[in-house]
Amino acid sequence: MSQEQEHVEPEEKTAQKFAKESRNIGNIMNTFLLILVFMMLCICTVLLVLVVNLNKEVGSINTKLMALQTSGNQPEVYEKTEDVVDINGSSVDQTEAADIAEVDALENKLVWDENADQSSGIRRVYLTFDDGPSANTDRILDILDEYGVKATFFVVGKENYAQQYRRIVEDGHTLAMHSYSHVYGDIYSSLDAYRQDLEKLRSFLYEVTGVECSIVRFPGGSSNTISRVDMHALIDYLDSENMVYFDWNVSSGDASGLHRSADQIAANVLDNIEKYNNAVVLMHDASGKNTTVDALPTIIETLLKSEDTVLLPISEDTVKVQHIH
Ligand SMILES: [Zn+2]
Repeated sequence: MSQEQEHVEPEEKTAQKFAKESRNIGNIMNTFLLILVFMMLCICTVLLVLVVNLNKEVGSINTKLMALQTSGNQPEVYEKTEDVVDINGSSVDQTEAADIAEVDALENKLVWDENADQSSGIRRVYLTFDDGPSANTDRILDILDEYGVKATFFVVGKENYAQQYRRIVEDGHTLAMHSYSHVYGDIYSSLDAYRQDLEKLRSFLYEVTGVECSIVRFPGGSSNTISRVDMHALIDYLDSENMVYFDWNVSSGDASGLHRSADQIAANVLDNIEKYNNAVVLMHDASGKNTTVDALPTIIETLLKSEDTVLLPISEDTVKVQHIH
């Protein structure tokens, strides 16, 4: 009997111990499950917050896109085309006025594909002046000279400015071609009309300066929408003549008719230059565009302060900044 009791007791103890251990394991499992549920809840909450934020982000991007599209549909063009004048300040016909307004709107709104700019390291800035020479050319040249900076002048054909064409060359800037007449309706009426206009400018500049120009900027840029000739045909023509064209990726926003203060012009240029390793800056050398000249010292001083930035004149070796190819 005592032997039996002795035998049973340990069995009961074992059973009790087992039950106790089971309860403990059960408790641990419960706690573990609770923690698991709690963690799942946390993850769910975080995911929910992320999704809500993402939705908000998408919403705001959509709003911005819509705002961009709306502003793109309503470009800052002139109320009346009668007020539009050409680069000499002379009045133009309705068609030309509409073309000038369209180009101005494009010049101020163009967005450059940043991925197109692959080179890295030192930032190269090319200041370019279209439509000169003008009453402002000497002032621009004086400022560039003062800072020892070289730039590029995409000139048109003008009598009585021989001294300015020559000074551009003598001061070490790049003398480049824009168009002789700069009349959109004429130069973009046919390939032949464009070719004749450019040939006229090329021989005119050679006579005045002795320089054979080979760098070109299309009036309105290669991406202009007013040419009646396919721009690729004009580009092929330039290729065949070993001439190279440059557009721009930074606009100063000084297009004719839209008044910009010197501060606005400097801010437009400086804010946008930061995006590119090769920044080609569009400005205009035209009488009446005094704020462009006034903005120059600020632009140049700021850029010269930056150690990794150089200001250069465009050459045939310059990285091509072209809107269409
Ligand atoms: Zn122009």
